[in-house]
Amino acid sequence: MALKTIDALELAGKRVFIRVDFNVPLDPQGRVTDDARIRAALPTIRHAIQAKAKVILASHLGRPKGKPEDRTKLTLEPAAVRLSELLSQDVILADDCVGDGVKKLVRDLKDGHVLLLENLRFHPEEEKNDEAFARELASLADVWVNDAFGTAHRAHASTAGMARFVKEKAAGFLVQKEVEYLGKALGSPARPFVAIVGGAKVSDKIKVLENLIAKADAVCVGGAMAYTFLKAQGVPVGRSLVEEDKLELARQILERAEARKVDLLLPVDHVCGAEPKETAERVVVNDRAIPDGLMGLDIGPKTLDRYRQRIAGAKTVFWNGPMGLFEQKPWSEGTFGIARAMAASPAVTVVGGGDSAAAVEQAGLVDKMKHVSTGGGASLEFIEGRELPGVKACEE
Ligand code: ADP
Ligand code: MG
Repeated sequence: MALKTIDALELAGKRVFIRVDFNVPLDPQGRVTDDARIRAALPTIRHAIQAKAKVILASHLGRPKGKPEDRTKLTLEPAAVRLSELLSQDVILADDCVGDGVKKLVRDLKDGHVLLLENLRFHPEEEKNDEAFARELASLADVWVNDAFGTAHRAHASTAGMARFVKEKAAGFLVQKEVEYLGKALGSPARPFVAIVGGAKVSDKIKVLENLIAKADAVCVGGAMAYTFLKAQGVPVGRSLVEEDKLELARQILERAEARKVDLLLPVDHVCGAEPKETAERVVVNDRAIPDGLMGLDIGPKTLDRYRQRIAGAKTVFWNGPMGLFEQKPWSEGTFGIARAMAASPAVTVVGGGDSAAAVEQAGLVDKMKHVSTGGGASLEFIEGRELPGVKACEE
């Protein structure tokens, strides 16, 4: 079904309710420590302002449990302050997201002005996708726009439920870009399509692996999950993290890859340590097998080279999951090596997953990728081939 984007709608004079993802990290003083999510929503917000809409923004922040102190700890005020700086215009902050006070603020809102509603999750009805609450939110809006990709995998009142009760609906530019890359670029990829998959656990990535094996020409496996695959093949892995109860599953995945003639590459060498600590001695093991007493904590240099060659020959590259314990310097080379190889490639390069995106950010290479997904869980569910309620709700 066609995804309508905000720029397809006439917005002048209308109450345009934009669900954004302002779930930003705060320091103990309540200041925004990383405004990336706010900046990611700016194109859609600016478009609505310039189109002379009455702009109503709504988001959740954290996980309020209904305690009174949550009201002060998890207010969207810091986000309102930061947004106002970024827009160089006033942002009115409501003290709630529903109720008579909010209705009055909306009635008084002028064209081109911005109102930010207070944390949606102060009401448990938001996450329950309560119909009456969804209707309340919808009563504030002529147009509903979803630009909160990070929560698009959740069917909550503001991310999906209220869409039924508004006249017009559309996706924001951020959601559109995510769908374009995670959906279209990976759904009908330019070939060869190479996937790089890592991270801590096979069990987290079963569906991702299955879906990628169905679509990619090669899947390069790294990270801790690689040791479960190696052990499943009978290769000794020392003290490396292994999911013993997933060995059979790993075997099935290997068989499926073979049956589909997809190259599933596993590490041929490793960077190991006696324990997963920054201070542990870094030992390069030039073999598939890992000696007793050592843990695999990163892919080795030969493996990195092989994966780099695959990336260099690809027209589409998707990466999810770090190649090692990259948060600690001795085990970060594989992960940053993959990031650099992708950054240097002219292919359609897409990164999904919270920790993988953080690694690309840390390497300063976000702008060198075609797309780094802003949604951790949402991007993985997308790659698993699932329909995201927040995207579906935007469709006509
Ligand atoms: P993403 O968020 O990108 O989907 P995951 O959450 O699956 O990625 O995995 C990320 C985590 O996996 C990182 O914190 C990283 O340190 C860890 N990890 C990767 N390889 C190893 C390893 N060999 N040993 C221990 N932890 C690892
Ligand atoms: Mg993660």
